[in-house]
Amino acid sequence: MNPALDSLPARPRVFVLSGAGISAESGIPTFRGVDGLWRGHRIESVATPEAFARDPLLVWRFYSERRDGARDREPNPAHRALARLEERIGERLFLCTQNVDPLHERAGSRRVAHMHGQLFESRCSDPGCTSAPYIDEATYAHREDLPRCAACGALARPHICWFGEVPFELDAIVNALEACDVCLVVGTSGVVQPAASFASSAAAAGALTIYVGPEEPGNADVFAAIVRGPAAQALPPLLETLAER
Ligand code: NAD
Repeated sequence: MNPALDSLPARPRVFVLSGAGISAESGIPTFRGVDGLWRGHRIESVATPEAFARDPLLVWRFYSERRDGARDREPNPAHRALARLEERIGERLFLCTQNVDPLHERAGSRRVAHMHGQLFESRCSDPGCTSAPYIDEATYAHREDLPRCAACGALARPHICWFGEVPFELDAIVNALEACDVCLVVGTSGVVQPAASFASSAAAAGALTIYVGPEEPGNADVFAAIVRGPAAQALPPLLETLAER
């Protein structure tokens, strides 16, 4: 179906980066889709360590709404196709997501590198505290209810990589980018670093690079092929072809 795939070796190693766009058809809006605004605040000014230090209640209200918005969402055919691909090619797939929602896991994916963290987890806000992130599906609307670390008593924060923070699992991601034969990027604008440079790193290491989404990404020039269309329609046939190689 996609002539670019003819150049791949048999049993290729596949790196997938998914972005907010893959969950758009499940009803979770992208930040760009809401013009980057939440109640008149720029999202970049709510999702930062400085915002949490200044006004933790405001930040927790923002993430409480995100939790409520994601709680009952179902994965769409794009998430399900990735889960099927993992079943079929196992360790040859490395799935990395910028998304904090749990839709890949709800679709059945078992190994997902959540580089920007997970919406339904919290952790201590004190970087010196050694307590681990924990599952937290609660929402918080009042200052006196804000969650605290069970170990040290400091405020707990969402387990999210905020603007200005270092993403999670970067070592494993860099290794997978160097090892892959094809790097498939789905539903991300290609402007948020470091994810925006993953495709060029993979290309420099010899991989075929493909983008899937309704619009050209900001880094379109690094892709050998661009498949224009919503992920739920465009991704499943592409993954089917990859699984058969
Ligand atoms: P972004 O920069 O990745 O932009 C969204 C992209 O999705 C756009 O390029 C758009 O063309 C594409 N898109 C829209 N509909 C699509 C569809 N049906 N199929 C495929 N692609 C589609 O993302 P953002 O919204 O600016 O978010 C920035 C960061 O905020 C993310 O990296 C993530 O960490 C976080 N975020 C997460 C979620 C989530 O977990 N679902 C949602 C919003 C934001």
